[in-house]
Amino acid sequence: MSDRLIIFDTTLRDGEQSPGCSMNLEEKLRMARQLDALGVDVIEAGFAIASDDDFAAIREVAKTCRRPIIASLCRTVKEDIERAWGALADAARPRIHTFVATSDIHLQYKLQKTREEVLEMSREAVRLAKRFTDDVEFSAEDATRSDMDYLCEIIEAVIDEGATVVNIPDTVGYTIPSEYHHIISTLKQRVRNIDKAVISVHCHNDLGLGVANSLAAISAGARQIECTINGIGERAGNASLEEIVMALRVRKDLMPYENGIVTEELYRSSQTLSNITGVQVQPNKAVVGKNAFAHEAGIHQHGMLKNRITYEIMTPESIGVKTNSIVLGKHSGRHALKAKYEEMGHDLSRPELDKAYKLFTKLADQKKEIFAEDLMAILQDGIASIPERYKLRNLQATAGTSTLSTSLVTLHDTTGDAEKTDTSSGDGPVNAVYQAIDKITGMRGTLMDYTVRSLTKGDDAVGEVFVHVEFDDTAYTGKAASTDVIDASARAYLNAVNKAIYSKDRRKAVGSEQLAVGS
Ligand code: MN
Repeated sequence: MSDRLIIFDTTLRDGEQSPGCSMNLEEKLRMARQLDALGVDVIEAGFAIASDDDFAAIREVAKTCRRPIIASLCRTVKEDIERAWGALADAARPRIHTFVATSDIHLQYKLQKTREEVLEMSREAVRLAKRFTDDVEFSAEDATRSDMDYLCEIIEAVIDEGATVVNIPDTVGYTIPSEYHHIISTLKQRVRNIDKAVISVHCHNDLGLGVANSLAAISAGARQIECTINGIGERAGNASLEEIVMALRVRKDLMPYENGIVTEELYRSSQTLSNITGVQVQPNKAVVGKNAFAHEAGIHQHGMLKNRITYEIMTPESIGVKTNSIVLGKHSGRHALKAKYEEMGHDLSRPELDKAYKLFTKLADQKKEIFAEDLMAILQDGIASIPERYKLRNLQATAGTSTLSTSLVTLHDTTGDAEKTDTSSGDGPVNAVYQAIDKITGMRGTLMDYTVRSLTKGDDAVGEVFVHVEFDDTAYTGKAASTDVIDASARAYLNAVNKAIYSKDRRKAVGSEQLAVGS
């Protein structure tokens, strides 16, 4: 048995299915390039038949990333598999990943098929996929709640058809490490041809056990681990890539397996994803959280000063955290800015750089010193890839303890190339601004969540506003940064408005095709 683990990243597929984490084509490409730099073995780039956007994203990722295997998910259905191949045909290393549920619960209530029917569908799907490519992965969705005899039977059958990877997902995050170890061990013992395929695992975090279950499976013989950056994914998310990889690195004494991950790229990968989706990791998140390397208690600090090993099992440097000081000032040029962004892992296109430089000079007029965090704020705020239907032109808001807040807002409607102004009063200046925006756009948003945090220190700190807004029962995130919190609040809200418009237009274009949720 090989001791090399295959790291299969599904940030762009399972991860993208999580609320608030949807990405457009440019964003997916940016993330894919970072995953490539991180050294993942497989990038699952989407679910080709789910939408035209998914299809296009898989195709572009496959064209851009030539080293890793690029996978597309598909059901065990002819059209799905053909569509997956359509998206993958130009890939240097394509993989068709076909799945069907194997638990009686799913068979009875979701698929309404018998075990025999599902077995036959699986055989046919793998057989068809093999006509397109050698690299075929089969997933037995909800494997951990499937009958063990049946699971063995179906896995043996798909390997006979040529499946090269067999995935045993814990789709609903139900198993525990000892049980999962037993399931993988049983498959290894009872499936006659199991040596002809790599056993893969795919764990969800509903009980917070995704990483623990993945590690248990490795010790039982699994050699492919499906995971996501920051652990994003359906519901409570997937097993987190950075946690698995660092557990393997720190406890190599107990888990002597190799993998191709460049751990120094972990932090950048986490940041890139947060910056794309606006979903920040919790401060106490293992490995990549803001506090993961912060030592507050006096006794800990004392120990750390004597020798870091007292309270530190891994170094911030090992995941690529650099202690950053001042990076740029007012007189820095466009070239320096581009170089700095490259160093931070962001390769800006010409128009992006132009936009960033404009925001940078504006900020540099207000602040003496520009930090890496400021540059991230510029990137997050100014270079959103969502088409901007509405842009903020002008804003006035009043507030006070004894007066009703009022606002005057002017937006530029890029579709009609018109400026539109409206006023409103409200419960506080932010509320007054949001109501004026609603009047102009004609879209009624419900603010579900509003956070403001300081990105930098000092009197001239940049504040970032992050909002969750519901339009027609769908939640969108928006964010913006500025030295003026009301200005950032308005633009964060507009960011959500623009996302809602973009997604509505996209749905219109694609149609309302409903799909079963992937494994
Ligand atoms: Mn999943």
